[in-house]
Amino acid sequence: MVRVYNSLTKQMEEFKPLREKEVSMYVCGPTVYDRMHIGNSRPVVFFDTVARFFNYLGYEVTYVSNFTDIDDKIIARAREMGLSESAVSERYIKEIIETYRKLNCLPHAHNPRVTESIPEIIAFIALLEEKGCAYVSEGDVYFNVARCRDYGILSSQSLENLISGARVEESEKKRHSADFALWKKTEEGLNWDSPWGRGRPGWHTECVVMVDSFFKGKIDIHGGGTDLKFPHHDNEIAQALCAYDHTIANYWLHNGRIDLSGEKMSKSLGNVIWVDELLSETSHQAYRLLLLNVPYRQPLSYKDELLRQAENDYEKIKRAYNGLYRKLEEAGDGPSESDPEAEKIKAEFTAAMADDFNTANAITAIFKAVKLANRYVREKNPPLGRMRNLLEIFGGFLWVLGIETGVQPLTDEEKELIARYRAARREKNYELSDVLREEILARGLEL
Ligand SMILES: [Zn+2]
Repeated sequence: MVRVYNSLTKQMEEFKPLREKEVSMYVCGPTVYDRMHIGNSRPVVFFDTVARFFNYLGYEVTYVSNFTDIDDKIIARAREMGLSESAVSERYIKEIIETYRKLNCLPHAHNPRVTESIPEIIAFIALLEEKGCAYVSEGDVYFNVARCRDYGILSSQSLENLISGARVEESEKKRHSADFALWKKTEEGLNWDSPWGRGRPGWHTECVVMVDSFFKGKIDIHGGGTDLKFPHHDNEIAQALCAYDHTIANYWLHNGRIDLSGEKMSKSLGNVIWVDELLSETSHQAYRLLLLNVPYRQPLSYKDELLRQAENDYEKIKRAYNGLYRKLEEAGDGPSESDPEAEKIKAEFTAAMADDFNTANAITAIFKAVKLANRYVREKNPPLGRMRNLLEIFGGFLWVLGIETGVQPLTDEEKELIARYRAARREKNYELSDVLREEILARGLEL
């Protein structure tokens, strides 16, 4: 049984999928006007791990994440770069997909783009208008929050609080200050014809439409960063309640933010860390370990020491897993035998992940597998059957967290090289064994 913390109901709940052994999941993707910084990478890695875990449990996962390719920020960036908006978004979509790959994320089922969803968005706004939840004001179309039951249920804010807290944008054109634009009248930047004149859609409408276009109805999980709860996700829910009488997803999951040693990360402060730059200096495995070492709902304070620690952790995991792999490779094929110790660790790993995806405790279980693997490899008469069982279980853990070690069967040439190294050592020809050792290590093989 998987239990998840549902931000919508503010409690831990048993995960019950809409369709047996299937998971439908949508996570708000980036606005494509720049590269990915580490703050944006947390939901990317976390929800990839969620998808992997459900996969591991035998669920068929359909994971969709969009690209917002219409936005004021894209228009501004296009001007700055002297390019068209579509050239800017194309460029960053390409770079972001490449970063997803570098982070070892499983490919998404679909990455819808707003510019490819305009007819559906217009039809949806017309539906809201028909239902009496939208009104036209000077060519813009607004959502009428007063017509929505339960407005603000996700962030638990009453309309009065929103106004007094000034968390909403005031405008003469709006009936209520919490009303938000569904369609913005504009001829600047990319714009389209609509029943309300030329313009473009509002951000909060895009996701509701893209979820429904792909999944045709309610889904299991809607995710994103905690900063999206209000207004974005509350506004998504408000529209879906009016249009479809449901809350889009049964479970809403939100990851905590990332700051830099306690300081907010922002371009204006000049302290942004870009993922592609970080990954040119460290491995995706170490970086994923760093992110997953903190339970996803907690804020994460990035420090270089944490990355060094994660690199050390990854080396230990890799050495233990690959050592076990090589030992079994040397021993040749044979039967697997259930290992009670490995099974116990597997139960701990699964229980941690099933407890609202507690990846920090799952990593603790991985280190128990590291210890057991190292112990077996050092034994004089290693229990090969149990070791085969452990290797399979250990490999499963690493797959779920997306931190595979990349170990491959040795080629004949590599086997010969290692045999020559061992022979040189036996003959105490240390000059030769040192040379061979260097060559082996240079090929990325361990001894
Ligand atoms: Zn969204």
